[in-house]
Amino acid sequence: MNDNKTILSMEVFPPKKEDEFANAFATLDQLADLHPAFISVTYGAGGSRSKKTVEIADYIQNKLGITALAHMTCVGNKVSDIDAVCEQLAAANITHVLALRGDRPADMTDEQYESRDFVYASELITYLKGKNDFTLYGACYPEKHFEAMSTRADLIHLKEKVKAGASELITQLFMDNDAFYEFREKCLSNGITVPIHAGIMPITSAKQVATTISLSATSIPKSFSDLVARYGESPEDMRKAGIDFAIRQIQDLIDGGVDGVHIYSMNKPKMTAEIVSALRF
Ligand code: FAD
Repeated sequence: MNDNKTILSMEVFPPKKEDEFANAFATLDQLADLHPAFISVTYGAGGSRSKKTVEIADYIQNKLGITALAHMTCVGNKVSDIDAVCEQLAAANITHVLALRGDRPADMTDEQYESRDFVYASELITYLKGKNDFTLYGACYPEKHFEAMSTRADLIHLKEKVKAGASELITQLFMDNDAFYEFREKCLSNGITVPIHAGIMPITSAKQVATTISLSATSIPKSFSDLVARYGESPEDMRKAGIDFAIRQIQDLIDGGVDGVHIYSMNKPKMTAEIVSALRF
């Protein structure tokens, strides 16, 4: 059972354009009021926007005084690119990195995709571990990574990632807590004992079901598809129903003693605040 140690954290993405930074900082100010233990910042696997990730992480770390977890990907990067990002992170005093393989962006050629120096996240983790004194996080998949041959194979590779130096894991979004609890058991029985943060994305529109959920191959519990059937046509009702579902899902995880809850905030501070204020930690 929960012994009140569940950590709360959030994910944000950097703005695409320079003139959107003021808005992004205002969003972060509001998220900071919710007292997350850390805020993670995504990284475009194309590599070209890495500076924006560092700029947002810098604000979180140095203006807000909250631990920033900067994402970094193998895809789109040579060793020299990784070295350059590491230098920027060091200059901003950022010590926490979520090391990922990344997915192939739609506009990336086969040649660009294959030309990365690190094939898997575990290789990037090994490299980063030997380079800076980073605290390294890795990604994990309660319902299996879409490319993995089997759950067993995915777990073997996850264990390699932890052995390489990932000291904490964050899951892909999921909606079925039983799948998460089963995954957590499998991790433990396979000797993966590092903290696992449950990644929760509030689904507040029927469109998100068609895009985010189906793209990530997340299974949808009947209780949620019933909500979409009932409220999908009414944006405000669907928003409320989606937030309510996320609150119930997260509360169950807290009561089930999850190490951490990582809210994919989608840069929506109001929605994130509505969820966090309803939780009992
Ligand atoms: P890996 O751990 O490298 O695994 C990828 C696949 O390879 C898996 O199927 C695994 O089983 C397999 N594998 C691993 N090692 C081996 C091996 N030695 N031999 C054979 N197979 C192996 N993407 C972004 O572009 N930017 C982001 O900011 C971003 N943030 C994310 C945050 C979280 C919390 C999560 C869960 C995902 C995020 N992603 C992001 C998406 C991520 O890049 C993709 O899910 C990607 O497909 C896999 O990344 P990974 O780090 O888990 O890869």
